[in-house]
Amino acid sequence: MLEYENKTVQEVVACTCDRCQKRMTPDDHDSGWHERVSLSLWGGFGSIFGDGNKVSLDLCPQCLRDTLGAWLRITPPEPDGLAYQERLRSEWDGREADRPRPPRGPAGSDDA
Ligand SMILES: [Zn+2]
Repeated sequence: MLEYENKTVQEVVACTCDRCQKRMTPDDHDSGWHERVSLSLWGGFGSIFGDGNKVSLDLCPQCLRDTLGAWLRITPPEPDGLAYQERLRSEWDGREADRPRPPRGPAGSDDA
């Protein structure tokens, strides 16, 4: 026979983008809730973020694309999805010329 006890569980009901402050909720399907990104990590010994520091971030889909879009690996459902990813990378290259660039094409085909 199994025995049970009641527990209190916390559930995320809203998320605010750290970049643009957009509030996203699961009930508002246009808010970006289902494509939001949240990350959280603890800096280890010698971490570039500081030993033991907590690093966290919440981004809406628009800010995810605008900040990290050039490095996102987007698997297209259709052939023109590749063109979309290349356009994202081109936009990034034009805006942030002094920033690191994502790899292009398969290994060994560097166009440098
Ligand atoms: Zn945002």
